[in-house]
Amino acid sequence: MPAYELPTCPTCKQTDQVQKVTTLFASNTKEWKETSTGIDSWGNTVTTEHLRTAHTALGLKLKPPNEPAGPTHPGLWYGIGGLVMIFLCSILCPVALALAGAIAPLIGGLIGASTLLPDLAGIPAWLVTSLTFGLPTLCFGVAVLALFLWLGSKVRNRFGKDLKSYRENKLVFEQDEFPRWQRAKARWEQLHYCLRDESLFIPGENKIISIDEMETQLYKPV
Ligand SMILES: [Zn+2]
Repeated sequence: MPAYELPTCPTCKQTDQVQKVTTLFASNTKEWKETSTGIDSWGNTVTTEHLRTAHTALGLKLKPPNEPAGPTHPGLWYGIGGLVMIFLCSILCPVALALAGAIAPLIGGLIGASTLLPDLAGIPAWLVTSLTFGLPTLCFGVAVLALFLWLGSKVRNRFGKDLKSYRENKLVFEQDEFPRWQRAKARWEQLHYCLRDESLFIPGENKIISIDEMETQLYKPV
């Protein structure tokens, strides 16, 4: 005789085929560790362990409600984006610097050489060359800077918006979604299954729950 007294099934009014769902689920679920052996890039033998689970058809139907995942803080995604940016910059910046390093002496040489040229309509030739090459370079630099500032402010605005919606979602999750799941899980722990009628019930509720409707019934407020 089990120490725990089983409740009566509301369909057949008997207790002999009744089982607690938590127990039934555990006996219809198998967990085991699987090891796989491989060789890593240094030629060492590595053994990895994987946890595997399998359910019988009944066990699969009696699965407890899935714990909902809360919203992800946007900082995580922006952090990953930032790391990607730093990574790209670390590749692109040396290239840009090398390019600038190659062009600068060229322009410098041109300006230097133009000091030897005669003045053009009263303006020194070196000034003309400087303006011709220097101004576009300066404009380009300013444009790039402006682009970065503009992008920066865009990202900042976007981050602010994402943070706001994250806080709202988190509030909904903490005040509604998560407690709802906790209640459903608590109800699941009270469920009993009658093997004779293949139906579920919660003691004291006197209501028959079909196995396919289990999840809906668990989330339904009493
Ligand atoms: Zn029954």
